[in-house]
Amino acid sequence: MEIDVLGGIEAAGPVFRFCPSCGSRRIGFVAGRKWSCPDCGFLYFHNVAAAAGVVAEREGAILLLRRAKEPRKGFLALPGGFVEPGESAEDCALRECLEETGWKPDRLEFLASFPNLYEYEGVPYATCDSFFSARFDAGAVAAFAPEPGEVEEILAAPLGKLPWNEIAFDSTRRVLEVYLSAGETSAVQGD
Ligand SMILES: [Zn+2]
Repeated sequence: MEIDVLGGIEAAGPVFRFCPSCGSRRIGFVAGRKWSCPDCGFLYFHNVAAAAGVVAEREGAILLLRRAKEPRKGFLALPGGFVEPGESAEDCALRECLEETGWKPDRLEFLASFPNLYEYEGVPYATCDSFFSARFDAGAVAAFAPEPGEVEEILAAPLGKLPWNEIAFDSTRRVLEVYLSAGETSAVQGD
């Protein structure tokens, strides 16, 4: 299943009912990306937000976090979150992983990026999610501590038995597919 990001983001149109600059009711949401006021010229770009996540593996199992809050509460996601102002995607991935699991990867390798749609408090955000791979070990498992209010449970799902119907986000599903197929390719090449 692929989410129609632009279709979802069109729903951001009604977020501003009045122009925040002149109060006009004629403010419009244009091309799924900007609010524009024909009366005073106000422009506000609802730009794509950057996010980063970690595909962490240990002995053929992938680290997944059960979400403790909306959106997609109860579903499974990778450690990750939104890039903060002034932050790189790599630093975001490390920070979010540490905050959410209590463990910080030693090393990251870029995997892929995918678009996603993230609806928060009634506002849809189109995102570009960058994913990095990492390895975790027994020491990491010992350090695991789910972030209160954010993460309900930390689990390691075998790559051959990933719970696809419980995955929270389209971008997560897509990067796991890429990770799996890359693993199969390298396994074939290694033979
Ligand atoms: Zn205006």
